[in-house]
Amino acid sequence: VIRCRAAVAWAAGKPLSIEEVEVAPPKAGEVRIKLLATGICRTDEHLLQGCFPNAIFPVIPGHEGAGIVESIGEGVTSVKPGDKVIPLCLPQCGECSFCMNPESNYCLKCHMSEPQNLLPDKTTRFSCKGKQIHHFLWVSTFAEYTVIPEYAVAKIDAAAPLDKVCLLGCGFSTGYGAAINTAKVKPGSTCAVFGLGGVGLSVVMGCKAAGASRIIAVDINKDKFAKAKELGATDCISPRDCKKPIQEVLTEMTGHGVDYSFEAIGRADTMIAALASCNMSTGICVMVGELDSGSEISIDPLLLLTGRTWKGALVGGCKTREYIPKLVSNYLEKKFNSDLLITHTLPFAQVNKGFELLRAGK
Ligand code: NAD
Ligand code: ZN
Ligand code: ZN
Repeated sequence: VIRCRAAVAWAAGKPLSIEEVEVAPPKAGEVRIKLLATGICRTDEHLLQGCFPNAIFPVIPGHEGAGIVESIGEGVTSVKPGDKVIPLCLPQCGECSFCMNPESNYCLKCHMSEPQNLLPDKTTRFSCKGKQIHHFLWVSTFAEYTVIPEYAVAKIDAAAPLDKVCLLGCGFSTGYGAAINTAKVKPGSTCAVFGLGGVGLSVVMGCKAAGASRIIAVDINKDKFAKAKELGATDCISPRDCKKPIQEVLTEMTGHGVDYSFEAIGRADTMIAALASCNMSTGICVMVGELDSGSEISIDPLLLLTGRTWKGALVGGCKTREYIPKLVSNYLEKKFNSDLLITHTLPFAQVNKGFELLRAGK
């Protein structure tokens, strides 16, 4: 058992509390990882506010990290102590029918099919002050050590800087992959990206890499526009500056609507606006943002009847265990610069300050 620090969420709506926790050794098929860096994604904020489906407190949040394998359980063959790894918030078992299907990135043995708050054997490896602490998406990266099933761990290049590539564990891969894998953006096309957080800015980067000729970035926080332009946005619009609904503005700007639209905020109204912004016949809208659990969306069915496609994607539609190590290699080859997404670097003890910065749109 390792004693180390972790940020524990004891109850919804409360700040995280840095605690000393016990992390049990990995059981068969599991890997214990020493985490060296983690990012903050809005999905962690959904969890802290109690809006994440089936969340159980107390829990150790965090799902966008990078670290080094500390020890392995019986039967683990794909990683060894000392390997650099990224924990996968969506695993890839490689054996289920979806893993075997090249079109799918969902894994039937993931934490959405099984209780996500516990490891697959329905127990936890974390305890604190005599209480069992739950896992989050199996990965719980807000801890100095975590235990994860082997098929939710991706080995990455030994040269990778962990404080930079941790973003590839969720935000970057989610946004970039939504453009490349899910929408399959074509060269010369027009795109609209709603929301310019870590995820939306990564969508902008993916659209640019795919050769889009026009990328319209939409956000109510105009402080995000300079970074969006640096990453490839050709136009930036705040819906608050528009007299008409944003979908009408985008339709007028592009003639009949964009070829691809992306929602990277997590609101019902902007999901409908993003859907209505892509052209009525061949337009593709990708839902990336997460709505609070229990939400519903109501749309005019004519939006789809004329031919539009409305899709969603987890972690950029990528087969995580294969694709994320490739993205790390592409990062090292300087094919993209995800470092531009890093706005602040904080010591672990200031994790609550990180959430304050997220809430303040910084
Ligand atoms: P973020 O908070 O950093 O960014 C959200 C952006 O949306 C902000 O810039 C904010 O100003 C903007 N915004 C808020 N309300 C708006 C409105 N009404 N109109 C226009 N812009 C508005 O969040 P993030 O970390 O980039 O995550 C974005 C979303 O993606 C979240 O819902 C998150 O849960 C989700 N997410 C999904 C996946 C997935 O696998 N599908 C993975 C990661 C994150
Ligand atoms: Zn995330
Ligand atoms: Zn699988």
